[in-house]
Parts: sequence; C-alpha cells; structure tokens
Amino acid sequence: MLDFHCVRTVCPYCGAGCHLLLEVLDGKLVGTLPCKEDPVSDGKLCAKGWNAWRYVEHPERLRTPLLRRGSVLEPVTWQEALEFLAAKLWGIREEHGPQAIGFFASAKCTNEENYLIQKLARAVMGTNNVDHCARL
Ligand code: SF4
Repeated sequence: MLDFHCVRTVCPYCGAGCHLLLEVLDGKLVGTLPCKEDPVSDGKLCAKGWNAWRYVEHPERLRTPLLRRGSVLEPVTWQEALEFLAAKLWGIREEHGPQAIGFFASAKCTNEENYLIQKLARAVMGTNNVDHCARL
C-alpha cells in the first residue's frame, strides 16, 4: 500500500512566506501544492513555489562545503569550512580593521538567522557593514 501524505510548511524562496503543502509519497518528496487556507498566497503559488521541492533530490545539489585548493574545489567537513572562514575573517580584521569586512544577508534566511548575521557583524567583528539582498 502506498503511503501518501502532505506536510504544511512555508516556501523558502522569498519574504512573502506563502504556505505550501509538500507531497510525500513513500517517504520521498514528490511535489508541492498551494495551501488554500493561506491568507498570504490566497491558495496560489508562483513558479518558484510550485517547483520548491525539485532541488531536494537533485543530483547536482551541493551536500557538503567545498574548499578551493589551487584550482580544485574539494569537499570538506562543516567544521573544516567554518574554521577556515573564521581564520580568514580574523586575519582580514587584524590586518585591515573591522571596516574591511562586510556581511550580506539573504531573503532565503529566516528573520532569526538574519538577526544573528547582523549580531555577528556588529558584536563580534565590530563592523556595521551589513546589507541584504532584498535591497538590490
Ligand atoms: S511561492 Fe513565490 S511568492 Fe510565494 S513565498 Fe514562494 S517564491 Fe515567494
């Protein structure tokens, strides 16, 4: 017997925050549906919302951080990638000062994640250079 159910969630693609239903068949994501009771989208989705499920199992989806070594991008652990990034940021800050660093947040992050990015910029790195892709 097939196991089919829907999981209600929020579209991750823009700040409109349309609710959508993820269609799950035998434990695998197979589609999205608009959520008729959602007052934001009024039961409609744009092309991004309708296709929001497709990247999950896409064969070219990046599933691990990549670090450039010479001309080659090598898969590394999150720990390795974050340590590399922290060392680079602190090195730039020490050599050129905090104003040499800027943080660019994303509409694909949650409000809480965007809050943490500006907190990292201001409280940890000492810069007010924070911007957001929604201003472009
Ligand atoms: S369905 Fe379209 S308009 Fe709605 S949140 Fe997703 S990207 Fe934005």
